[in-house]
Amino acid sequence: MDYRIPRGTYDILPENSGKWQYVKDVFRRVAESFGYFEITTPVFEMAELFERSSGENSDVVQKEMYRFMDQKGRSFALRPEGTAPVVRAYVENHMDKSGSRNKLYYMGPMFRYDRPQAGRYRQFYQYGIEFIGSNHPYYDAEVIAIEMAYLKALGLQNVRLEINSVGCASCAKEYDLALQDYYRQFLPELCPDCQKRYETKPRRLLDCKVKTCQVFRTDAPSQLDYLDEDCREHFTQVRAYLDASGIKYLVNPAIVRGLDYYTNTAFELIVDALGAQKSIAGGGRYNALISQIGGKDTPAIGFAGGFERLLLALEKESIPLPGITLPKVYCIAIGDEAQMSMLPILSKLRQSGIYADYNPDKTSFKAQMKAADSSRAEFAIILGEDELKQGDFILKNLMTSEQERLSAEDLLQRLTQ
Ligand SMILES: [Zn+2]
Ligand SMILES: [Zn+2]
Repeated sequence: MDYRIPRGTYDILPENSGKWQYVKDVFRRVAESFGYFEITTPVFEMAELFERSSGENSDVVQKEMYRFMDQKGRSFALRPEGTAPVVRAYVENHMDKSGSRNKLYYMGPMFRYDRPQAGRYRQFYQYGIEFIGSNHPYYDAEVIAIEMAYLKALGLQNVRLEINSVGCASCAKEYDLALQDYYRQFLPELCPDCQKRYETKPRRLLDCKVKTCQVFRTDAPSQLDYLDEDCREHFTQVRAYLDASGIKYLVNPAIVRGLDYYTNTAFELIVDALGAQKSIAGGGRYNALISQIGGKDTPAIGFAGGFERLLLALEKESIPLPGITLPKVYCIAIGDEAQMSMLPILSKLRQSGIYADYNPDKTSFKAQMKAADSSRAEFAIILGEDELKQGDFILKNLMTSEQERLSAEDLLQRLTQ
């Protein structure tokens, strides 16, 4: 038998768990400082939820979704993204009622059958924010401010915020017509996908990955020139709130959103050092989503970021991240009787939340001392024949090699104070 991990997935080994825990903890702390509460949804949902929210013809649904049937023939999907499940929970739990929380954050694995490449996985971990229930431009800026505060708390320096407005449905319609006008002359030169997009979703022409299509982007009309008055005013307000919050940004009209439910503000966080996969987080307003999946018409805004790329970006800037936790105490007991007398000490230390280690496979004093040293513990507790007779313990500081004899009571007091 030769079992291997599925392609496009990875193990987070113990030596890496510290940094994963750290980036999650910091996100939790920052989000909560803005008054956001954690929501956890299942990793699978009815496949239809994503078909409705992402659109049946989207790449996610067509090519990337992990779909399965359960024993009763119901169609489910591993979640490819976090927003639709949160919105489903919001609607299902009537979280629009007063007193309900509508400032939400989540973290967890997402799944996409994607071609694995650097910074891209089939099971990947995202963190995200959803604010549901207001169209006030203040919240657009607040949601962006959370991500900026998070990156700042982690110490990431070389990151750029880019923002755009994709307008509302009626702005988008005007814009689509303008794009069709512009692209008509180049139609024969576009890739087959773009020729289809030209008819169905002209905005998608702008984010085609094919080089020969990209050249036409430079002179294409900008969505910003096709915003109606309300949408233009909203964007102006968002920028004013960002300015007042001291958040720097670049307006990039090329930020488009593939999905119809996105409205108005769209933004991305870019780390150039990451190369092809340089977007570490992205989001925007999705005022049309909640009604699209059966809720009341409710404005909302959010973003999602990827922990994998974030960790890569932190490593590129050589930002130190927590490694493995080291024991505070290593216990050394010589002989069977000493071992039994050491156990109450070991359990009391652990009850006090102290990381205390012991290895019964090592029996000689020399082997145990060596293990204590290589564990990089701060202290060793030594219980030999002589101490056993006297009813006390040796506490050795492994950094300074100083040692003293203490009663069990004094020993515990010393280590737990
Ligand atoms: Zn509009
Ligand atoms: Zn193309």
